[in-house]
Amino acid sequence: MSPARSVCFDLDGTLLRDDHVDGVVRAVSERLADRFGVDAEALAAANETAWWEYWTEVGDAWMRGQIEPESLPTEVWRRALATVGVTDAAAAVEAHALHTSTESTAFRLYDESAEVLRWLSERGVPTALITNGPSGLQRAKLLATGIEDAFDVVIVSGEHGVHKPDPAIFALALSGLGSAASETLHVGDNLVADVGGARGAGLRPVWIDVAPRRSSRPSAPRPS
Ligand SMILES: [Mg+2]
Repeated sequence: MSPARSVCFDLDGTLLRDDHVDGVVRAVSERLADRFGVDAEALAAANETAWWEYWTEVGDAWMRGQIEPESLPTEVWRRALATVGVTDAAAAVEAHALHTSTESTAFRLYDESAEVLRWLSERGVPTALITNGPSGLQRAKLLATGIEDAFDVVIVSGEHGVHKPDPAIFALALSGLGSAASETLHVGDNLVADVGGARGAGLRPVWIDVAPRRSSRPSAPRPS
């Protein structure tokens, strides 16, 4: 096998920790519980249930940038609040704003992420990021963690109308890198989006098993 010449990375759960989500939902639920006189634990649980239900309905469109990015998390909070008896539409908007501001201070890289990217940069290895999610959210994560300039190519699914595991999104990254698929690694945590996607596009997949250090559910919103 020829040596790899360039490396693509997934973001959420691979370079970026995704174990902050439950803490953010809990913190937001506690604030809302105080405000609306409801049970915080019940509200947090309702958020998780609502998330999985609504993600099934619109997750693909959300990753492709085909629905308003704010609409997904806002609808999840609307459903969760309704479950505990709060039906004021303004409450869901307020909940989402609170969620966004709380989450924006909670983005963290895994300890080794910056070191790995620096190691590759120092050796002149071209790198790309291929991430599923809306433009604003994914780019906010890069900015918050200081890796917005760490890649030669950044491909955010919401900016291109295509998401992993579609081979087309890997082709965009390869085109930007000027690399052949067969000489490019793709590093990611999701067996379908990253491993299956990379394999389908002819790249060489590297699976990162982060299960032991992640929360029970993937990051919210949940790019893969
Ligand atoms: Mg991931």
